[in-house]
Amino acid sequence: MKTFKGFGLSQALENSLERMNYTTPTPIQAQAIPIALDGHDIMGTAQTGTGKTAAFAIPLVEKLLTDPQGCALVLTPTRELGKQIMDIMHQLLGPKSPIKTAFIIGGEPMGKQFNQLRNHPRLIVGTPGRINDHLERGSLMLDDAHFLVLDETDRMLDMGFTIQLERIFKYMPKERQTLMFSATLPKNILKMSENYMTNPKRISVGETNVVAAKIKQEVIRIEQDQKYSELLTQLTERTGSVIVFVKTKHNADRMADRLRRDGHTSEALHGDLRQTKRDKVMVNFRKQNFRILIATDIAARGLDVPHIEHVVNYDLPQVAEDFIHRMGRTARAGAEGAAVSFVSNADGRKWHAIEMLINPELAAQKKAANGNERRRGKKPSSGKSFAGKGNFKSGKARSPKKSHDDNNSFGKKKSYGEKSSFKPRSGESSYEDRPARKERGEGKSYSDRPRNDRSRDDRPKSDRPGNDRPKQERGEKKSFGDRPMKKRSEGKSYQDRPQGKKPANGKKFTGKPQGAKPQGNKPHGNKPQGKRRAA
Ligand code: AMP
Repeated sequence: MKTFKGFGLSQALENSLERMNYTTPTPIQAQAIPIALDGHDIMGTAQTGTGKTAAFAIPLVEKLLTDPQGCALVLTPTRELGKQIMDIMHQLLGPKSPIKTAFIIGGEPMGKQFNQLRNHPRLIVGTPGRINDHLERGSLMLDDAHFLVLDETDRMLDMGFTIQLERIFKYMPKERQTLMFSATLPKNILKMSENYMTNPKRISVGETNVVAAKIKQEVIRIEQDQKYSELLTQLTERTGSVIVFVKTKHNADRMADRLRRDGHTSEALHGDLRQTKRDKVMVNFRKQNFRILIATDIAARGLDVPHIEHVVNYDLPQVAEDFIHRMGRTARAGAEGAAVSFVSNADGRKWHAIEMLINPELAAQKKAANGNERRRGKKPSSGKSFAGKGNFKSGKARSPKKSHDDNNSFGKKKSYGEKSSFKPRSGESSYEDRPARKERGEGKSYSDRPRNDRSRDDRPKSDRPGNDRPKQERGEKKSFGDRPMKKRSEGKSYQDRPQGKKPANGKKFTGKPQGAKPQGNKPHGNKPQGKRRAA
């Protein structure tokens, strides 16, 4: 399909596309739009920055325009991605559209969302946790939502949203059209598509494990304590907007501060920031009010900021696939971009996993070569960069200059994650946006509960089954607390004893009947005074 005209879209939608300067469909749009317009389910994989959002947004808006009863739900893993999708939807609906929308994401006030939901929205974009919350409260009904889009499905599952997604499916009509997009298709996604989709058509554009060809990549072998001064060098050598990926939220904040002190304009973006702050950072970055965004992997996926020219992998990602997603933040929609990755000695396993993903043949060759060297008693060839083959245009191993900054504590310590296995740990960036324990269906952790309700059952006491009947009726024994005070111990309490029977001075009151013999194995100190052996 050469132009959007061939799809037979409504005039209003064609006008919107013209306003947005969308003249030619991208390959994923050319494949997905006609299939979706025909009413089929879609299971799609597409490289980042390929126009995937419009590939589902165009047919979705067309359905809303042509079916006055139709409602649609779009689920997305992160709030930022949701916001981008919502923006595209609004642009496609047009400025004067009567179709109401609701944006239901975590971290925003419930009141605002109740108002949006009361307005009978026909399009809802949201994150699974908050959508579920509204479904359970009864503030959201999905009976008429016959169109469902799951964007970045693999990410949603990685973040622990499986239970929420399955609950949401149950609230939706069985007769519906489902479009599922994912960067990868692991088994759990294929299973989900089997269970919740009807004969989905498979579409795929480009290899999802390939970094866009227009990204000029560089790899720098470096020690952890030299990274910051190398970053300063890189920032001075490069021009244009930069996104720097770090591993933890804390380091994102610290690095943004530190760069500001070193004369750069910089802000941090991570999952611990309040939503208003996150929005503000993104708006300012889009407007180029500052140059360097320091982000955790919350920003690895889907963020579409066309002016990002450089990606710096200050820390390697916890999940190898995120390397590809991070790269996708530059060279958007056919533009050029550059990326530099700092690889320290402690990053061996992570880097190998990334190489295996991007260029498995070369990675296998290198591994074999290292193995041979080891067998011959040589040290493996560390310090060699990933040479400019495959997707990497150049690779250089450098010994960056040491600066006084390097002695600073920032980034000096090796973090636990670098030594341990390649799985993300909770609290690290890959999982930071994931739902709370309760939303993941794991129940509150003991310490999350209010002090007076640290029982196993999460429901308020009054909601628990059988609570309105006495314990005997429920066939339960009386609990310790149910007995009258005086019967709780076999002996009387200290205060209950008549004055004259108080234990003799110095003796502890043990609660045992007076004549009780000490247990054979009791520690020496527990024996009645008179029976103590002489020392
Ligand atoms: P996405 O992969 O959906 O994040 O889109 C990447 C970028 O491509 C965004 O800036 C879109 O606005 C842009 N884009 C998507 N489809 C088209 C199109 N058909 N023509 C021009 N730009 C597009």
